[in-house]
Formats: sequence, C-alpha cells, structure tokens
Amino acid sequence: MGINGDNNRVAGRDYYEHNTILKLTSEQLRQVAIKPCARCEDRVVSADVTICNHCRYELKTQARNERLLRFGFMIMLVWGALLQLLNSRSPDIPPVSFFEIGAISTMLVLLGAALWNEFRQWWILNGSVVLSLVGKLLIRLIRGNK
Ligand SMILES: [Zn+2]
Repeated sequence: MGINGDNNRVAGRDYYEHNTILKLTSEQLRQVAIKPCARCEDRVVSADVTICNHCRYELKTQARNERLLRFGFMIMLVWGALLQLLNSRSPDIPPVSFFEIGAISTMLVLLGAALWNEFRQWWILNGSVVLSLVGKLLIRLIRGNK
C-alpha cells in the first residue's frame, strides 16, 4: 500500500485522491449543513426545514386524533342536550328515538363544523378588514363620548 495514495485498493477498486479543495460559499454551506430536529432532537434535518418527517407525521396524527376527539365530544354534548330537552317534555324515550337523536346530533355537528370552516375561510380573507373597521368604530365611539 503506497503511503502517498498511489494504487491503493479499497474493496477491490482503485480510488483516486482528488486533491481539490472543496470551495463553498456560505450560502451553499448553509444549504448542505444538517441540524438536529427542533422537536425530537434525535434525527437530523436539512437546513431548510425545522422538524423531521417522523415528527411531522406524529404531529399530523396527533392533530387528527384531537379533531376526532373534539368531534365526538361535540356530538355527545349535542346528543345529551337534545335528550334532556326531549326528556323534559316526555318522561320516557323509546330506544329507537335515542339513536335517531344521535344521528340528528351527528348531522347537526357536521353542519356546524362545515359552517365553522366556511366562517374561518371567510375570516382568513376578510378578518383584518373587519378588525380594522371595528377598531375605527371603537375609536370614533370613544372620541364621541368625550
Ligand atoms: Zn423529529
């Protein structure tokens, strides 16, 4: 094995020493650099993202579970409220209408969620305008009272 690197064989192959110096700009260095994931700090990510794929998947699953839980909770709430409302009118509810009320409350919650999503979309588009209008109105009210 030649000390100066000539004819060295690694795994049956000759390798060549490239006596070139890798020159990267600081921008390129930042792009190829890796850093630990901001969430788990176990895995490394490239510079342009903050959390690793594993954490992103975990967060997505968590968000979905929370949404499902909230959804189920809302259905229970509406179901209970409807049952109580009907119970105050007639003392005994036959078992069929119990599940009918459950279906109705599920539909109500679905409708509510759809309306809420619509509102949120609208608010994303128009929220800042509404807030600034309210602000101007408040200022006018306060000045008018003086
Ligand atoms: Zn991570």
